[in-house]
Amino acid sequence: MQRAVVLGGSIAGLMAARVLSDHADDVVIVERDGLGPADTGRPGVPQIKQLHVVLEGGRLQMERWFPGLTAELIADGAVPSDGDAIEHYFDGVRKVPVAEETTIGLTRPFLEGRIRDRVLGRDNVRLVPGLVRGLLFERGRARGVRFAPRGAEDAKETETLTADLVVDATGRSSRLEHWLRDAGWQPPRLDRMRIDLRYTTALFRRGDELPGVAVVQSLSSPAPAGTPQQDFGVVAEVEGGRWMVVLSAYGQPPNRDAATFVERVRDTPGAPFAEIAACSLDSDIETYQMADSRRRTFTGLGRFPAGLVVVGDAFASFNPVYGQGMSSAALHASCLSAFLRSGERLDEPAWGYFRRAEVVVDAAWGLSTLGDLAMPHVTGPYPRGYRFTSWYVEKLGIASMTDAEVNRRYLAVAHMREHPRVLTGPSTLWAVARTLRATRRRAPVPPQRSGSGSVANRLRSTPAS
Ligand SMILES: Cc1cc2nc3c(=O)[nH]c(=O)nc-3n(C[C@H](O)[C@H](O)[C@H](O)COP(=O)(O)OP(=O)(O)OC[C@H]3O[C@@H](n4cnc5c(N)ncnc54)[C@H](O)[C@@H]3O)c2cc1C
Repeated sequence: MQRAVVLGGSIAGLMAARVLSDHADDVVIVERDGLGPADTGRPGVPQIKQLHVVLEGGRLQMERWFPGLTAELIADGAVPSDGDAIEHYFDGVRKVPVAEETTIGLTRPFLEGRIRDRVLGRDNVRLVPGLVRGLLFERGRARGVRFAPRGAEDAKETETLTADLVVDATGRSSRLEHWLRDAGWQPPRLDRMRIDLRYTTALFRRGDELPGVAVVQSLSSPAPAGTPQQDFGVVAEVEGGRWMVVLSAYGQPPNRDAATFVERVRDTPGAPFAEIAACSLDSDIETYQMADSRRRTFTGLGRFPAGLVVVGDAFASFNPVYGQGMSSAALHASCLSAFLRSGERLDEPAWGYFRRAEVVVDAAWGLSTLGDLAMPHVTGPYPRGYRFTSWYVEKLGIASMTDAEVNRRYLAVAHMREHPRVLTGPSTLWAVARTLRATRRRAPVPPQRSGSGSVANRLRSTPAS
């Protein structure tokens, strides 16, 4: 392939560009925010100041495409953790820890900046600052892109770049439907689930509180309709000796008042939250509102232009409470690699890519929307078999509170390392039934502390998958 053009240079676009650099002579990223470092004020990524959790499944893919990235991030301040250092609470009760669970705590600009450095460090990748205005089509295929160079966004004139493959990585507000319709193509189906979520993030100075703890997550049962839902919370130690705290609430008005935020942190179920609320606040209060989760479905379209694929949030954008976005983007990049290596023709629609990526989207969408549908204010669409699935997931959730093996399998799926089918396999069904029977017979036992070894070493030595 001579040239590939990637629209958007955030996580999904950067991951796709890395993959494409193995297949195209020239890879061009067209990014409206330009070349600057992934600073915290980047308007094209308004969620950049919110806490971004890197799920293990996504980290493994990032490591696959950028060997040594995890070690580099840790050496420069990211905080590795595992087992006992990661505390999950449900309705204020701590779940049994999973020794194998690992994660790294960092801020999103730090991660994106390092990935960007690695991608732009490749000889055949360059970034053109500009605002994409539309696609070029020619004889049944996408042929490139029309864009306004940065600084001339208001001018009528646009520049063009031709390409053999165009990748839409412009995020959840992608204008793909308009671009396709304008050229007479049928747009993909767009599904939305209204969630009405408000995210609020701030940083606190870390002192000597909570020794040995690096990540805390608190989830709560859905409140009955008409009563306030308890905030969900996540705290992660990030570079620079800070705690990053995010609270998520449903159907609440925006509130950037520092005193109110600290109070909400203190009231979040799970003992560590009160300790963190006592630390000194070290940033402004940043809010983000998300009206819906949304996904596009490409397979099943009668016609679609060849030479066009879609990655990241432009494909599917989920409730961020589940932390799936960057990992999905990384997995999409690996799907793109598998498609390009399969030898499928580029002058035909990239169904082979869309089929692979939809496996990732289905898995992530299924997990996150199941949680959302349990909220009384979320009114569908309900998937087939919803009643039975939600009944089973509730039982699985109860078993995962005290059974480390059930919790390990649940986390492997939630962290996008395993397909959700492992949760319905016979051995998991049996483990859930056995645990529930035992739980009924005796009062719950507080979780044991598990041994962890050196997590930094374990993360550093993760083999590229
Ligand atoms: C509040 C919140 C919290 C989140 N928390 C997590 C988390 O904990 N873990 C996680 O994995 N994910 C999380 N996500 C999701 C994550 O932010 C995204 O999945 C991730 O950024 C990958 O998205 P993307 O690259 O597809 O799109 P984006 O990050 O939205 O980037 C789109 C890019 O395209 C550019 N662009 C847009 N339009 C144009 C155009 N016309 N021309 C040129 N350039 C254009 C933008 O400038 C931007 O750089 C969260 C999301 C939100 C909203």
